Parts: sequence; C-alpha cells; structure tokens
Amino acid sequence: MKVAILAETAPGETRVAAIPETVKKLAALGASVAVEAGAGAQAGISDGDFTDAGATVGSRGQVLDGAELVLSFSGPEAAELGGAASGALLVGILDPFRRRDAIGAYAAAGIEALTMEWMPRITRAQSMDVLSSQSNLAGYKAVIDAAAAYGRAFPMMMTAAGTVSPARAFIMGVGVAGLQAIATARRLGAQVSATDVRSATREQIQSLGAKPIFVEGVAGIEGEGQGGYAGETSEEYRQAQAELVSTHLAKQDIVITTALIPGKPAPRLISDAQVATMRPGSVIVDLAADAGGNVEGCDPGETAVRHGVKIIGASNLARSLPADSSALYARNLFNFLSAFWDKEAGRPLFPDEDEIVKGVRLTRDGKIVSERLA
Ligand code: NAD
Repeated sequence: MKVAILAETAPGETRVAAIPETVKKLAALGASVAVEAGAGAQAGISDGDFTDAGATVGSRGQVLDGAELVLSFSGPEAAELGGAASGALLVGILDPFRRRDAIGAYAAAGIEALTMEWMPRITRAQSMDVLSSQSNLAGYKAVIDAAAAYGRAFPMMMTAAGTVSPARAFIMGVGVAGLQAIATARRLGAQVSATDVRSATREQIQSLGAKPIFVEGVAGIEGEGQGGYAGETSEEYRQAQAELVSTHLAKQDIVITTALIPGKPAPRLISDAQVATMRPGSVIVDLAADAGGNVEGCDPGETAVRHGVKIIGASNLARSLPADSSALYARNLFNFLSAFWDKEAGRPLFPDEDEIVKGVRLTRDGKIVSERLA
C-alpha cells in the first residue's frame, strides 16, 4: 500500500503527520511511504531524515500518484488529492462540523475520510487519542506563554535584595490541557489552584499539589461526566460559580482557562468586570479562544489588554511545538493504523461494527456515513 504524507497547506500549520520512526514502522508493516518535499521542515525533520527512514521524497504530484492512504493534520480539500487511487483513505483532523462541504466533496470524490478527533475516549483507543496528545502540549505551552508575558517571576525567591513572592496561578477547566497546566505551573514554582464542573477532578487537582476551588451545595457534573465530558450546568450552578470565581480571581496573577463543552460554544467563565478586579500586569491565557473563548474580550490569535491585564487568545497552541506535536500525532496515527492492519491484505481493514471505526469514519463508497453528520 502506498502511503502519502503531504506538506500541510492550512494557514499557520507547522506540523507533519509522520516522523522517521513512524515511516520505519509503516514500512515494517509492508507499506511504501512517500513524503512531499519539505513536509517536515517546520518540525525539524529534513527530507534526508525521511529518506534515511526508508521513505521516497517527491513533489505533491509524485507523492499522491497512486496513493491509497493519505495522512494529514488539517485535511486537504478533495480537489487537492487528484492522483490518489480511487477509494483512497484520508486520515486527519478533518474538523467535520466546520467543514461539512469539504466532507461532502470527499464523499463525491470517492475518498474514505476518517477523522481522528472523533476517536472515542475508551481505554483501547488511548494511544490513538489526538485530542489528548495535542491538548497536553497546549496546556504546557499556555503556562510557558503566560510566564513569558508576565512581568514578574513565578517562584518565590529569597535574595539578599529582598523576597520575590510566588505567582498565584488559577487553572479553570481540568481536562487534559488543564492537568498539564497545573503540573507546569507547579514546576515553575507558582501557587496553583484549579476548578472544574466535574466533581471527579477535585481529587486529580489535589494529587498534583494544587488547591481545588469548587462550588459547594449546588450540583455540578457528577463524577467524570458523560463520556468523560462536561455538559452544560444549571443557571443556579453558573451563578454560584461566577460568585466563587469573582472572589478568587481578584487575587490571581495568572489564569489559564481551558473549559470546553463538546458540540457547544465554550462557556463564558470570566466577564470584563471580573478582569477589572485583577491586578494590572496579570496574564490570562484563554485556550478556548477558537471555540468562542472563556474570557470576555478574548481575541483568537491575539493578545488583548483590558484594565492592564493581558488576555492571550491562544489559538491551536500545539502548533507552536511542532516537533513534539508532530511526533505524538504521528504515533497516534500509527497506533490507529496498526491496530486495524491486515497482514494478508497489506492494508488496514476497518470493520463497520467496530466502536472506533464508527466514531472516526466519515465517508465511504461515495456517501457520508457518520451518524454525527446525519
Ligand atoms: P475538554 O477539552 O472537553 O474540556 C476541558 C475541561 O473543561 C473539562 O475538564 C471540562 O469538564 C471543563 N469544563 C467545561 N465547562 C466548564 C465550566 N463551566 N467551568 C469549569 N470547567 C469546565 O476536556 P478533555 O481535556 O478533552 O478531557 C475530557 C475528559 O476525557 C476527561 O475526563 C479526561 O480524563 C477524559 N479522557 C479520557 C481518555 C480515554 O479514556 N481515552 C483520553 C483523554 C481524556
């Protein structure tokens, strides 16, 4: 089976869907891998690194010619895939809700599209979970960016010239990104607190040495929540949460917000009036910027200054760590493909009834087959 790795064309994309290690592993399964020239440049992988691993490197036309499997990050348009074999598989983060027309075009072109961000959150699929691998890096980078934008130090320092007090960091939303943000802020020496609507996160926050800040007496989301995800909370809960956050926020120097609700706009957690209570020079990083933002006044991809507080609208932060984000993503892809690889057929076979396949498959035989897109 010929596998094509394309250079990404989406604006701002820095990552690549394969690394030399996964090229070797795909070759060991019997695939031949072709990489578009320059595809790994921004992730620090040269064309020579790919050829040393056993890939061929060529132009987009050469790479796509006869390809039966195309691996990508942000999916290319169907029109860009001319030359691929009929019925070719396309695997990527295809953003189906926002790219419905593009998904329809894959179906019309006879491409079988599989989208990795719809991987079910089940134990068997953990090593294939691209949301986790990218969110983890984003949570780390949010704290690093906050530290860089903050005009003070994070750790307490007792020096001959006096004491520097530790930064107080508050993490709102304790999923994968939030947990890594807590750990990173702790490593940098900040005093860390965190909140979430899912009660199961209280223990996780404590186990990382941070202080849980939770609404008491009003039901939020019991345990892990449906499928591990938050749903919307009651008006009473939102009110209580806003009051709790108000008192706490005014004392914070660094705030990282990560709250998301699948299929809904990001919940608003911080109002402009609350930002005004913070000390000038404080920094907020809003990791939900692309989903509408947790913070009023947040602008995706930009840093806004409100009441002397910097609000960083973090957009796809994993892209700013292209070497690591590519490596983790490439391994997620390999783990997915190898789990379904059929030695005799020399390609992955995706059974209709498999829970993972049902989650990620969007199109097949000229039709959109995903239930979520029905
Ligand atoms: P996410 O990106 O969907 O949301 C981030 C966090 O925001 C979540 O913790 C959510 O509860 C929280 N949130 C939503 N509304 C909020 C509000 N109003 N106030 C405060 N916080 C709010 O979450 P995620 O990082 O994708 O993780 C979701 C869950 O999936 C977690 O329980 C995680 O442990 C689980 N998970 C499971 C697997 C697996 O089993 N394969 C893999 C990864 C993650």
